[in-house]
Amino acid sequence: MTDWSQLEDAFGSADGIPALLDRFEAAPSSVWPELMDRLCPQLDTAFTASFAALPRLAEIASGQEPERRSWTLLAAGPIVSCARRSPEGMTARTTYAAEIEELARLTDECLHAALDSETYLLLLQTALACEDVAIWDERLDGMVEGEYEVECPHCGVEVFLVIGAEGRFSAIGDYARDDIEKIPLRPTPPQDLDGVAKQLYERALRHGQREVAEGFAHLFGEGECGDCRTVFPVATQVAGWLMPTVV
Ligand SMILES: [Zn+2]
Repeated sequence: MTDWSQLEDAFGSADGIPALLDRFEAAPSSVWPELMDRLCPQLDTAFTASFAALPRLAEIASGQEPERRSWTLLAAGPIVSCARRSPEGMTARTTYAAEIEELARLTDECLHAALDSETYLLLLQTALACEDVAIWDERLDGMVEGEYEVECPHCGVEVFLVIGAEGRFSAIGDYARDDIEKIPLRPTPPQDLDGVAKQLYERALRHGQREVAEGFAHLFGEGECGDCRTVFPVATQVAGWLMPTVV
């Protein structure tokens, strides 16, 4: 049995986590914010109790129908992503390998359902976290929000890379204004995509997410700085500090 009093969450002692998980199971969408405040604040920090909660989250998810499972998967995903950033987390990935594999399977099942692109991308991040695909398990956020804010690799100016309902372009400044130049992103032709880019593109197509797939062709394409006109790989700038080498 897990001795929760020996574990920590964001607030200190994790004594209250089992009861909180019970409440989460009963009302996932309303308790999710409170659960994440304790187990994965900002969705980028995890604690010993966060990892210890993974088996229970997998159990909860497996008892839910796919269409009612999203909140549970969206609680587990960020915790699994965080695991690779600490020794306790790396140990947890091994200890709970079976549960993480089950979470991956349960998530993939949901991806086959007709989802809006935002939910699809968020669940895809959970799937990638459980499959140990670094960077993109955390950096599809800009495609969910419709924009990434990056620095030009040459002149350092802040560039918006828009990939979403507003279009697919780069801009400097408030691109909602008509007088701001919008430079179309240059997608990589699908047949030229490789590695994780190819996998993401083909997976989205397989799931009937054509818009998302085309978004990936742009995410793994090129953008141009409107100031110094340098052309750069979008994904490299998006990955930023998370990525030690070029995609
Ligand atoms: Zn520039």
